[in-house]
Amino acid sequence: MSGSPAVVMRLVASAYTVAEKAGAIVRKVLHTGELGIVEKTGANDLQTLADRLAQQSICASLSRRFPKVTIIGEEDLPAEEIGEDLIENSQSEEILQMSCPAEYSEVKEEELVVWVDPLDGTKEYTEASKLLCHVTEAQIPHRGLDVPRPPSTTLRLLDNVTVLIGIAYQGKAIAGVINQPFYNYQSGAGAQLGRTMWGVTTLGAFGFQLQEVAGDRRIVTTTRSHSNKVVIDCVDAMEPHEVVRVGGAGNKIIQLVEGRASAYVFASPGCKKWDTCAPEAILTAVGGTLTDMHGKPYSYHASVKHMNSAGVLATLRNHEYYLSRVPQTVAQALKSD
Ligand code: AMP
Ligand code: MG
Ligand code: MG
Repeated sequence: MSGSPAVVMRLVASAYTVAEKAGAIVRKVLHTGELGIVEKTGANDLQTLADRLAQQSICASLSRRFPKVTIIGEEDLPAEEIGEDLIENSQSEEILQMSCPAEYSEVKEEELVVWVDPLDGTKEYTEASKLLCHVTEAQIPHRGLDVPRPPSTTLRLLDNVTVLIGIAYQGKAIAGVINQPFYNYQSGAGAQLGRTMWGVTTLGAFGFQLQEVAGDRRIVTTTRSHSNKVVIDCVDAMEPHEVVRVGGAGNKIIQLVEGRASAYVFASPGCKKWDTCAPEAILTAVGGTLTDMHGKPYSYHASVKHMNSAGVLATLRNHEYYLSRVPQTVAQALKSD
């Protein structure tokens, strides 16, 4: 229909507001202190009430407006009626006003796949919650975020948390939304809490200031809670000037596009398609690259295996350099599909 925005832009416009709603849910659950933690495959693979509610909200809201889109969420949840309070109906007017890149203007709803990580960085989210519990009531009269914090780098853990909604077409990550619910939580009263970044490949990325690491410094960002010998060996092989160990795949791409890291190196099969789809789209929209440790791109078709078996290597620039440094032993440990 002439005059109506293309479905890709309408989907991104919905994903934007839906991710904001999910971010608000993530904040609210932390605020209550009742996280409802469930171990999935083990103690380092957790699910909380926030993961469950945020996914229900995202999936139900998007599938109501886009019934033909395939939506794949991280959490395995029983099919049940979703309360109306979890539904987000609005769309970002700003995104609706923008032109759709020509190559996506004719894409049909049924050709799109949405990968949802309702809460990326759950491990750090639960650790941050425990730390808040150890702060006495006298220090925090209202267990909230708008109160002075004891100076502690560990409390920056909440910056690791993101909501990820990635959109794929023909197996490629073409658009993504990242909501960071606790952005600015240590910036004091008056600072806006939370932010939403989004991007569409060939259109660009918005909601942040693109920055590169100054000079030729190799600053490698990697996991803080899912490490092992292969992961460490691979980081060391990059001969980094500095290593930034933070939680979350979304957060690590934020480190790259905001100039705090030059490569995300994770030689492990731990990340899944919902971890990388939205981040990859935003990174690609600003000229970056995400591949496995062999330099092979991941595919995001609805039928693909969820695990990113051959690890994750993401860079804004100089991808080839980092690829060339991957040791043989690491490459052998992580077979491509
Ligand atoms: P991290 O960099 O450790 O925060 O991991 C990024 C994303 O991959 C998070 O969603 C983690 O839950 C997931 N992930 C990484 N390694 C593992 C693992 N060994 N088991 C389960 N999930 C993992
Ligand atoms: Mg995740
Ligand atoms: Mg998650």
